[in-house]
Formats: sequence, structure tokens, C-alpha cells
Amino acid sequence: MLGWSIRLGSLLGVPVFVHWTFLLLVGWLMAGPFMAGAPNPVAAGLRAGGFVLAVFGCVLLHEMGHALAARRYGIRTRDIVLLPIGGVARLESMPRKPVQELVVAVAGPAVNVVIAALIIPAVLATQGAGAFAPPAGGRVDQASFLASLGAVNVMLVAFNAIPAFPMDGGRVLRAVLAMFVERATATRIAASVGQVVAVLLAVFGLFTGQYMLLLIALFVFMAAGAEARAEQFASVMRGVPVWRAMMTRFVTLRASQTLGDAARELLAGSQQDFLVLADDAAGDDDATAIAGVLTRHDLARGLAAGREAALVQELMRPACPSVREQEDLQSVLDRLYRDGRLESGECPVIPVVRPEGPRGSGGRIVGLITPENLTELVMVLGAPRGGVPAPPPVR
Ligand SMILES: [Zn+2]
Repeated sequence: MLGWSIRLGSLLGVPVFVHWTFLLLVGWLMAGPFMAGAPNPVAAGLRAGGFVLAVFGCVLLHEMGHALAARRYGIRTRDIVLLPIGGVARLESMPRKPVQELVVAVAGPAVNVVIAALIIPAVLATQGAGAFAPPAGGRVDQASFLASLGAVNVMLVAFNAIPAFPMDGGRVLRAVLAMFVERATATRIAASVGQVVAVLLAVFGLFTGQYMLLLIALFVFMAAGAEARAEQFASVMRGVPVWRAMMTRFVTLRASQTLGDAARELLAGSQQDFLVLADDAAGDDDATAIAGVLTRHDLARGLAAGREAALVQELMRPACPSVREQEDLQSVLDRLYRDGRLESGECPVIPVVRPEGPRGSGGRIVGLITPENLTELVMVLGAPRGGVPAPPPVR
């Protein structure tokens, strides 16, 4: 998502990005008065553009509310991204204490309450209640600019009060529930409520002919499922040591092997991405010799270009820092997420190292963590009856 975003700068230490499609939206709205042949297209175009920018200024302040509240609890915000559908503040983690999550979730809409409380009385005092009537032709004019901005802030609060993920209301609901029941249960209930809300929204949209609501309902429905899955994932990973999730049967490649060799290994087993060791490695599990990673994707690209004879080291990418087998899986994943390696796909395989290997300080590679075996772990441990025996300990 960030790949298509432009950095605007940073606000109170939080990097702010804008997605390029957002600029398209501003351009399109500014061009509207020209295409419609409005009497004074330049002024109308600037006003339309200015209004969108003012709205997104309010969205940005809303996200800053979340970011600053999170900062109070020592949680940093990686960035804020402005999209045509709204803003996203990407916090490094969500506070796990329900009260703190509640504060962080409420802090965003609270900013819009403050903005509305400043604008609306001012408009009422100077222009009267008539200023809030929808502007003629649906176009914001000079007189209705502030009134419309006030109305937008009220709408932002109302929209986020809907108790469904990904709206703030969904998080508020989960946080309140989590004060009484376990977090995983709270998430499941909140996700179900969100799906009911989505269905009601869809029915309402269908009967009133507001088909845009159907799209929003679908989006909300899917977000509820995603949130429930993410929480299930996290609750399974917590307290599980790395060795329980790692792949212990794996092959490593050497830097000077060819892509043809690598292709044969790919076909021979179920492994997709390979750890590459330097040629002078003391063995196939020498952790000091890790030189890089060859992914199936890179391998396929090399083969497609007819480079079977090319060396693995020409196509490999840097390896991820290795982890210890006794580390807590969730904290490993949290760390990768904080460093931004998880979403970027920068870590297709994570080497798991046992420090006291036969070669002393360097250690021995005893396993690999890959996205596929993490998914399998959730499938196994998250099974309703949990009826799968624990794998034998590795030491
Ligand atoms: Zn929010």
C-alpha cells in the first residue's frame, strides 16, 4: 500500500503519506466545475479542491488523535496514510489493556467532536441554521463551506460510532467486552456484532436503493472476519516457543550452486524458499555461513529468463536476522512487524538457530519459520478441540 504513497512530511514525529489515488480524487473534483461548464470554473474548482483538502485535514487530525493517545502508552505510530476512503494510522501494536485500547479508539472521533464543536456554533451564530441546508446542486459554495465541513465532522463521528470493525466503534465494543471476558472471546463477539451490522446495512441499502451501502456492508463484513482471524492467530501464537512452529526438514543451498540445482530441490520437496549458505560453510546447518535467501518467486523469474546456469548468489536476497528456538513466537512476529519486515514480504524464511551448536559461538540452523508453516500451526493449534498432540521437544 505504501509503495503507491507519497510522503508529505511528518507531523509531531509521525510520518504522513498520501496515496496517489487521493491526488486523483482531488484533481477529479477540481475538474468537475470545468466539465460542468460552471459560470466561474476557476473559483469553483479551487473551492472544491480546497474543501476536499479541508475534509482530509480533519481526517488527518482524527488519525493524529489515535497516534497521540497510543504514544501515551508507549506505542509508536509507523505512519499515517491518507486514502480516498479515509485515513489509516498504522500503530506498531494495539494496547492489550482494554482501558488503553478504549482510549486509543475513542481519541480519533473525539478530535472530530472538538472540530464540530468549534465550527457549528460559529456557523449558527453568523449564518443561522439555514447554512446547514444541502447546497444547491450539491456543490459547496463560499457560504456553505464551513457548514459543510462541520457536517462532515459530525458524519465522521457517526460513522465511527457504528460498532463494527474496521470502524473505531468496533474497537470500542471489543475493548468494553474485554473488560468482562477474555480478549479472544471479546473479539469474536465484536466481530459477530459487526457482521450483523453489515447485513442490516446491506438490507437497508437494498430497500432504499442506496447501492453504495451494499459495497460498504461487504467491506465491513469482510473486515469483521479478518479481525477475528487476526486475533485467533495472535492468541494461538502467544506463549508458543519458536521451535513448535518451525520447519525442521529443510534443505539449504550454496551460493555457487546454479538455478538449475535450486529448481531440482524445489521439485523434490515441499519447500518453497531456500536459505543460502556461503561456499565455505562448515556444514549444511552452519549458522555463521548464512549468505541470503532464494525465494521461489526469484527462482521462477530467473528460470523464465532462461538463466538456469546462473548462480544462486546472483539472484538471492539478504537473509532475515535469525531467531532462537526458545523465543516466544508472538514476540518474534511483533518484532518483525515493528521493523516493517512482515508485510513487505522481506522475510520469506526466518532461520532458527540453536546457539550452542557443535561449532561453538556461531550456532546451528535447526529450523525455518515460513508463512506457510505459521498458517499450518494456526490450523493445528487453533483446531476447535485442540486435539493434536504437541510435537516432541527438540532438545
Ligand atoms: Zn479512527
